[in-house]
Amino acid sequence: MVRKCFLTGELIFFAEERAKRPFNYKKIHVANTPRQFCPFCPENSNMTPKEVYSTEDKLIKIVPNKYPFISRNDETHYGIHDVLIDTNEHDEKLNQFSYEHMTKLMNVIRYRVENLEEDENIEYVQVFKNQGIDAGASQSHSHWQIAALSVIPTRFKRMMSVLEDYYIKNKNCYFCSLDYGDRIIEENEEFIAYVPYDAKFPYQMFIMPKKHIHNFKLFNDLQLSLLGRILKHCVMRLDTMYENISYNICFYNSPKRDFNEDSFHFYLEIIPRIGHMAGFEFSTGCHINSVLPEKAADVLRGIKI
Ligand SMILES: [Zn+2]
Ligand SMILES: [Zn+2]
Repeated sequence: MVRKCFLTGELIFFAEERAKRPFNYKKIHVANTPRQFCPFCPENSNMTPKEVYSTEDKLIKIVPNKYPFISRNDETHYGIHDVLIDTNEHDEKLNQFSYEHMTKLMNVIRYRVENLEEDENIEYVQVFKNQGIDAGASQSHSHWQIAALSVIPTRFKRMMSVLEDYYIKNKNCYFCSLDYGDRIIEENEEFIAYVPYDAKFPYQMFIMPKKHIHNFKLFNDLQLSLLGRILKHCVMRLDTMYENISYNICFYNSPKRDFNEDSFHFYLEIIPRIGHMAGFEFSTGCHINSVLPEKAADVLRGIKI
């Protein structure tokens, strides 16, 4: 079976037989930086640049990235690269955070997105989390990264124009008119977690606000707490399925200006890193997914949390 990604036009080949191959799922690598060398543990705060923000209780901090890929001093590609350290506990993972902790985390992200957008040179803010070595995390201590850019990435621009075209044609936002079918994992008053019809990776999940909201900074306090709750549940499901699994969380937030607010809808994506991207994917931009979205949703929904 082949499906086409609505947003990017990439093809996804579903091949359930491939899940039976030996070594289909990579061994889970657990790398742990010894606590005494961990720059994100509170006692080692001298190892990171001075914090730019901290919650009153010092539970969550934002520090400049010590190894940034963008800088305020770069005249052609101005940018700000933050690390958000979301816990003081060296081994505590997102799935273990309390609901209150998740709400606090969502509040800090909202504050920082809004704050970075106030910078005249910033056009686009990317929030993401790399959890685990297979997801690209260089530190085992839980953290997020926030990259504020003076340009809107090309892939993102393309997605925005696809959504805008849909809006013009249908007089409605694509995500607001979506039929989730039997791919819903969980929902609450404000959010829905589901496996997209065109999932590129096994057990890939989207979390979507039910109301049409284009930017993370516009969520109210209740929405942030419900988003924290459903996000925690999603990563709990993954961790129950594969303990210590690596995953990425990516926010899709509207740029600061020059876009159609009615056609862009905020969402976030969780990508479990259990398969391999290999030659075919790199050379063609297509994906091979060994788990059908409908089956993935069924499994994820069935996990007791
Ligand atoms: Zn640590
Ligand atoms: Zn919408």
